[in-house]
Amino acid sequence: LQPKNWKAPSGYSNGVVSKGNVIFVSGQVAWNENYEIVSDDFVEQVKQTLENIITIIAEADGKPEHITRLTWFVKNKHDYLASTAEIGKVYRSVMGKHFPAMSLVEVSDLLEDSAKVEIEAINISGHVSNSILADFAFAMQGLGSGPISLFGSETLKSKYLPEVSKGKLISTFALSEKEAGTDVASMITTAKKDGSDYILNGEKTWISNAGIADFYVLFARTGEAPGAKGISAFVVQADTNGFEVSKKIPITSPHPLGTITLTDCRTLIYTQRSYISVKAL
Ligand SMILES: Cc1cc2nc3c(=O)[nH]c(=O)nc-3n(C[C@H](O)[C@H](O)[C@H](O)COP(=O)(O)OP(=O)(O)OC[C@H]3O[C@@H](n4cnc5c(N)ncnc54)[C@H](O)[C@@H]3O)c2cc1C
Repeated sequence: LQPKNWKAPSGYSNGVVSKGNVIFVSGQVAWNENYEIVSDDFVEQVKQTLENIITIIAEADGKPEHITRLTWFVKNKHDYLASTAEIGKVYRSVMGKHFPAMSLVEVSDLLEDSAKVEIEAINISGHVSNSILADFAFAMQGLGSGPISLFGSETLKSKYLPEVSKGKLISTFALSEKEAGTDVASMITTAKKDGSDYILNGEKTWISNAGIADFYVLFARTGEAPGAKGISAFVVQADTNGFEVSKKIPITSPHPLGTITLTDCRTLIYTQRSYISVKAL
């Protein structure tokens, strides 16, 4: 966090905002694993102390770049001021170019007689992307199963909804097309009645969960009326003949996205009402 017009601080950050698993590290001094101070030299003590912090946070998969706070206690601030260049060097060698929120205070004494510096740390390990993925998975399960819970037959509801809520079936919501994004009413994917089945032809794109989903709530033009009318939603199993995830779309976030091609894809019929009429569209 860097307020506008403030000069950038050197070697630390004014503030840090973070989210994830929080690790608190007790004040470390320059000791080894047997709690013996390794050196009398101030700079070497700093190096060993920082290494101890890194060793501790690694126990919870924490990394130097996840350290959000360092509090330094020094017995003599002149030890620090006399060797800032060397300290900067050892700091970067252990921590990389990562500068958390820091404080440094001179104290009258430290519990360890031969320690010249003690540092405590807070590490917030980056599980944020996992949480984004979890949020996405939750949203997609809701979006894909929503039309079934709102408009589906009892057979569709009992077949899909309990398994979706347990996470055993993955759902999708396949509405968008190359030329029908915001303007959904211009979609051209067709669904033609053939006996008690529907035959789907067309292409859907930007479909989240494409390729990993078990079933697709897929919208197509049934033709009862033009424009925004005459569109229905179909539940299409991923293993249906004529259904293909024809392209994977790479994006920067962990998010499976793809294009679906439907070629004479005959919907599986579970009941008389295997499709869901979405009158609102
Ligand atoms: C990561 C990701 C995941 C997606 N997942 C799914 C999914 O699971 N299922 C699915 O069906 N779709 C999905 N989509 C598609 C998404 O819903 C569409 O991208 C969205 O509907 C916009 O369509 P478009 O990209 O064709 O943009 P367009 O419709 O071409 O719009 C482009 C721009 O023009 C503006 N615009 C359009 N029409 C007008 C107008 N009349 N007046 C003023 N401005 C207008 C829009 O606001 C937008 O800024 C996903 C997209 C992304 C990026």
